[in-house]
Amino acid sequence: MSRKILVTSALPYANGSIHLGHLVEYIQTDIWVRFQKMQGHRCHYVCADDTHGTPIMLRAEKEGLTPEQLIANVWQEHKADFDGFLVGFDNYYSTNTPETRHYANDIYGKLKAAGLIEVRAIEQYYDPEKEMFLPDRFIKGECPKCHAKDQYGDSCEACGATYSPTDLIEPYSAVSGATPVRRQSDHYFFKLSDQRCRDFLKEWIKPPQVQDAAANKLNEWLEGGLSDWDISRDAPYFGFEIPDAPGKYFYVWLDAPIGYMGSFKNLCDRLTPSPLEGEGRGEGGLDFDAYWDRKKAAAAGTEVYHFIGKDILYFHALFWPAELEHAEYRTPTGVFAHGFLTVNGQKMSKSRGTFITARSYLDHLKNPEYLRYYFAAKLGNGVDDIDLNLDDFTARVNSDLIGKYVNIASRAAGFIAKRFDGKLAPSLSDTPLLGQLQQAAPTIAALFDAREYGKALREAMALTDLANQYVDEHKPWELAKQEGMETKLHEVCSVSLNLFRLLTLYLKPVLPKLAADVEAFLNIPPLAWKDAQTLLLGHEIRPYQHLMTRIDPKQVEAMIDANKQSLTPPSPASGGGAGGEGAHPVRHGEKQQHPTHPSPAGGGAGGEGLISIDDFAKVDLRIARIANAEHVEGADKLLRLTLDVGELGTRQVFAGIKSAYAPEKLVGRLTVMVANLAPRKMKFGLSEGMVLAASGSEPGLFILSPDEGAQPGMKVK
Ligand SMILES: [Zn+2]
Repeated sequence: MSRKILVTSALPYANGSIHLGHLVEYIQTDIWVRFQKMQGHRCHYVCADDTHGTPIMLRAEKEGLTPEQLIANVWQEHKADFDGFLVGFDNYYSTNTPETRHYANDIYGKLKAAGLIEVRAIEQYYDPEKEMFLPDRFIKGECPKCHAKDQYGDSCEACGATYSPTDLIEPYSAVSGATPVRRQSDHYFFKLSDQRCRDFLKEWIKPPQVQDAAANKLNEWLEGGLSDWDISRDAPYFGFEIPDAPGKYFYVWLDAPIGYMGSFKNLCDRLTPSPLEGEGRGEGGLDFDAYWDRKKAAAAGTEVYHFIGKDILYFHALFWPAELEHAEYRTPTGVFAHGFLTVNGQKMSKSRGTFITARSYLDHLKNPEYLRYYFAAKLGNGVDDIDLNLDDFTARVNSDLIGKYVNIASRAAGFIAKRFDGKLAPSLSDTPLLGQLQQAAPTIAALFDAREYGKALREAMALTDLANQYVDEHKPWELAKQEGMETKLHEVCSVSLNLFRLLTLYLKPVLPKLAADVEAFLNIPPLAWKDAQTLLLGHEIRPYQHLMTRIDPKQVEAMIDANKQSLTPPSPASGGGAGGEGAHPVRHGEKQQHPTHPSPAGGGAGGEGLISIDDFAKVDLRIARIANAEHVEGADKLLRLTLDVGELGTRQVFAGIKSAYAPEKLVGRLTVMVANLAPRKMKFGLSEGMVLAASGSEPGLFILSPDEGAQPGMKVK
């Protein structure tokens, strides 16, 4: 049965170059889409540049461009990079379009009618010189924890602490340098805390809509209580003005996923002839409503899948389905999260030259299919990070693709051309190996469908080994020298090329360009999955031409050298190369809804700076019992903890852990606190210390607990 599938990848932010970290997702998605198309399904893949927000506005200003000019330039660059990596979008669009504006307004209007939009005055930092409210990322100051200077308003790059901009010591605007002032403004909130959203998400968050690992994390967030989502920003802002609220704009994260709909609508309009042009929705037509209208989509049985990085699960698996559900649109069939990319086992780094842009890869290695193959070989359907080990990359591509796979064709093709007029044998005697390769089709298909590409390629490579064994055993180069072995030679070479054709079919979702070259060589139409059932007999092929060259390790070295840069502190307006607010929303965007964590590919902290035992001894760490924990009126992320610290008495601490813990779950627990941190006067009262919590590259925050037997007031050393 032919399925109707719409697939998206997360929208790259129009404020920085595409790098290999981004490409994990686009390559993963593209392989899946190409596979579905080879199955004969009707599958469309859309994406767009994510173009709105303060970083775009400020960068354009800095470069003397209008935001529209800036995003047009970046669109060209991104599109060329994606083309270079054979990412076959059916439509690559922009969010700054009438279609996206239409659906943003529509969804907002429906949510408002449903009583899910609320206006609330909030207090925020305001730059009196620039006359604008400042996102967290545009406020800098001294870290309240380690006192490093010039840290961002949401997190410290020196010690990794996360906090809110109001915690910064001597804050200043990164835009103008002015001292920001606190100012009130009305903001629009999507009421994610509403019981209807909660009830819906409770049902929705489970496989197959989300992966197991993601469901656990999402349910934790849900249990911890969801905060309402601030969806508006004040002018000046580059984005869509909210229809009934002059001077207020949709926050970039509101319209980014709606960009999937905008891009798809644009595709539908391009593919569907207007009534004036003829018969309307024929086979070529594509009906937007059949994919997005809740009732029509259910009737049409269409499927919608979003491929995303695990850092934006919160947006795609909480906000997005809740919005769609209450605006009478269909919700996603599946949200597929993947992990981050490391290079040589470490976070991508500009100083090590492993922060590799798409363009520099193409300039130095030329062939995108090396990387497509390597990523695919490493990808499973979970959220684990994948590592690009550059030595392994070179060795594996050279061994698997050139040494094993291409080798089969190069050893057989010449004899067919020279001895048999380019024609394959008209019939083949019973060759069990051909049958074995044909029978592998459903197994490999199931693995691709389940996004288990690494396993699919292991199957294909095991078959490639068998095909090589066949050639080695039958030695066509020796048969060619022997009298009266013509028929045998013809058969062996014809079997080899049929094996090669089947292997090509199985590798085609990953290696589309190579497959097209093989199709040209074999003189056949584009291979579809059902072609595994047939063989090429008595068929005339074209002369063999070289299909793929080996990677020279020198090319890889040159690429790394070209990417080496001195560590310059990233400026917020240039996105720090990490893609800005859209690509790494947790770092650059909303902070009050969930714990902050480092971006996957950002610049990173120093790592130098060892301390002596005496330095460490200055920190008075104590076991504390959480005697009480409660919400703080007006604070989105803080809990007020009353800590029993034994001999030191009780302390009040405000901890930014509301997103991870319900207060009632904390009461009675033991944890570890810094007892000699200078008290800080906060808006809500005095904070007399700090509790310790762990966080990593995945969302989540975990407070420490001592082993059984520890008592309040004990020293930790
Ligand atoms: Zn710090």
